[in-house]
Amino acid sequence: MPEIYLKIIPTEPGYVPKEEARTKAVALLRKLLPRSEDWNGEVHERLEFIDQGEHLETIICPSCGDRLRLHSQVNGEDILDWWYRVSDEMEETGPEEVRVEMPCCRQQVPAMALTFDGPAGFARFEMNVMNPGLKGDLPSEHLARLEEVVGCRLRLIWAQY
Ligand SMILES: [Zn+2]
Repeated sequence: MPEIYLKIIPTEPGYVPKEEARTKAVALLRKLLPRSEDWNGEVHERLEFIDQGEHLETIICPSCGDRLRLHSQVNGEDILDWWYRVSDEMEETGPEEVRVEMPCCRQQVPAMALTFDGPAGFARFEMNVMNPGLKGDLPSEHLARLEEVVGCRLRLIWAQY
C-alpha cells in the first residue's frame, strides 16, 4: 500500500505561525481528520521544497510556460536528470539560493518560481497527516478553520511515496 500524505503549508513561503497557533492547528487537524495515522506540525530551519513525491508529473516553466513532463526529453535534455540536479541543489543550499536554467527556453529562473503538477510548494512551516482517508480534498470549511487558527492562507499538497 502506498503511503499518502496531505501536507498543508502557508501560501506565503517564509511564514511561521506562533507556537501556540501551531499547537492549536495540529490539535484541530487531529479533530478534523481523526482517521489519519499521524498528525504533525513542523518548523524547518530554513525554507524547504515541500514535495509531492510520486505525484510529480510535470514542472511548469515560469518563463515560457512550457510544461516539462518528468519522463521526457526536452531539447535533448532528460527532464528527470535535470530535476534531480535542481532538487539536489535545493537540498544543499536551500531553494532561495538556487537559480536554474530551463531546458525549454534556456532562461535562468529562480527555483522558487517553478510550479508543479501535482502541486508542491516552498515553506518553513508544514503540517501533515498520513493516510487521512479523505475522499477528495480537505473540505473548504475545514481549510478555512485551519487558516483562522494559524492566521494565514494555506495550500494543500498531496504526496504519495
Ligand atoms: Zn521555458
